[in-house]
Amino acid sequence: MRVGFYTSKREYCEKKQEFQEAIEKVLVDGIQTLGKEVKDLETEIENFTEVKHAIGVASGTDALVIASDILGFKKDKEVITSPFTFLASASCIAKHDAKPVFVDIDEDTFNIDTTKIEERITKDTCGILPIHLFCQMANMDNIMELAKKYNLFVLEDAAEAFGMKWKGNGDFYRYAGTIGDMGIFSFFPTKTLGGYGDGGMIITNNDRLDELTKIYRVHGASVKYHYDYIGYNSRLDTLQAAILLVKMKYIKGAIRKREIISEWYKERLKDIEYIKLPKIKGEQEPVYYVFNILCKDRDNLNKYLKENGVGTSIYYPIPLHLQKCFSYLGYKEGDFPVAEKACKNVLALPIYPEITIEEVDYVCEKIKEFYKK
Ligand SMILES: *Cc1c(COP(=O)(O)O)cnc(C)c1O
Repeated sequence: MRVGFYTSKREYCEKKQEFQEAIEKVLVDGIQTLGKEVKDLETEIENFTEVKHAIGVASGTDALVIASDILGFKKDKEVITSPFTFLASASCIAKHDAKPVFVDIDEDTFNIDTTKIEERITKDTCGILPIHLFCQMANMDNIMELAKKYNLFVLEDAAEAFGMKWKGNGDFYRYAGTIGDMGIFSFFPTKTLGGYGDGGMIITNNDRLDELTKIYRVHGASVKYHYDYIGYNSRLDTLQAAILLVKMKYIKGAIRKREIISEWYKERLKDIEYIKLPKIKGEQEPVYYVFNILCKDRDNLNKYLKENGVGTSIYYPIPLHLQKCFSYLGYKEGDFPVAEKACKNVLALPIYPEITIEEVDYVCEKIKEFYKK
């Protein structure tokens, strides 16, 4: 058997007619940048995540770069984030010459260890950039408390977190990306809400930040050809928006399916002593975008799974503080031991709504086989 890590083909086959009609409508109506479908998707996402404003941009990375620019992450400023994430969570800070300041992660959640943030706050700190990774959100209670105490902006990297919800000690659940000053989503194909190409979104409850984002995404123009700022050309593509609107119709079911698949994995892997399964911390509702395990002898297990036709992925093999591009920050091995250890042991197993129970059975059998050898 072969079990792919991810494919968009099954979903497309299941809903072929709907996707075709959505794409064809855009083409027949005549292509428009920031067309009707983009606006409709923005409205859908505002309603779904219960946020005031959603602004479609060209990618999750662009969303981070634009939001960082607007929030004033610039020269002589510091922004606190995690070293265990995708590059874009920290490069958006460095792009504007602000300094990414890393804080180690919590070993159970892989998210920033919020108990270690305060000691890294200086007079130059202007923001915190938490990432909600894999299946759960960072502790937003602690982050918002620090932000309030030290007057910091919070930019939530919710690229992987569409549909996750945080309650913490609050009175009600709030969606990932809607708690800080700004939040971002990625529509990269593998993501929970993934398109058939690149796309992203910025969300905010602040009217002024919404206004600025809409200006920045079209070259900084408040009125066409009148440039108030040096902005970007970063629009969500109308065709991608049309595809994403189809996917939004089924998003609740897709999220539920991911949860069911995560249960299949947990049930089958729970007795293997060499494996640590995901553990959810804090009052929150996870969404299993990635099903990550920590495992003994990771590289050989990974090799064995590959040889047996199982697609896997390693998020992330090298923490950001040890990447060449950030060597100028002066970090060294040993600075963030929890993140470094996670990089050596973490392994992502295939999970997407169309995967079958037989495929999950096969993956788990192969894992058991490996440890029996
Ligand atoms: C995917 C991802 C991004 C970037 O999104 P793109 O749409 O691929 O640019 C940023 N941060 C995290 C944590 C991601 O997983």
